[in-house]
Amino acid sequence: MNPSLAPTRSCAGCNLRALKHSLIRIVRTKSGEVTLDLDHKKFGRGAYVCGIECFQIAFKKNKFDYKLRGQVSREDLNSIGQILESNRHIAHSTVLGD
Ligand SMILES: [Zn+2]
Repeated sequence: MNPSLAPTRSCAGCNLRALKHSLIRIVRTKSGEVTLDLDHKKFGRGAYVCGIECFQIAFKKNKFDYKLRGQVSREDLNSIGQILESNRHIAHSTVLGD
């Protein structure tokens, strides 16, 4: 398999490109709620980060408003941040999970 065909996305925090499935996906659902999408299966516009540090950078720079095409609720982002904070292994397990 040609690795250049593997889908990549840039991280909203550090802007580095990485394999899509190695990143944490944050999605805006049809109802407008912004939530974590650990299985990369939810429909909606997505933003990607490598981990908690990049999530916080993107949060501070309001990158999610841009990436998700509209203002994102601070409460939604705070709760995502708390989940990532208490599950720091998430990023690594998604890297290894595929
Ligand atoms: Zn990053």
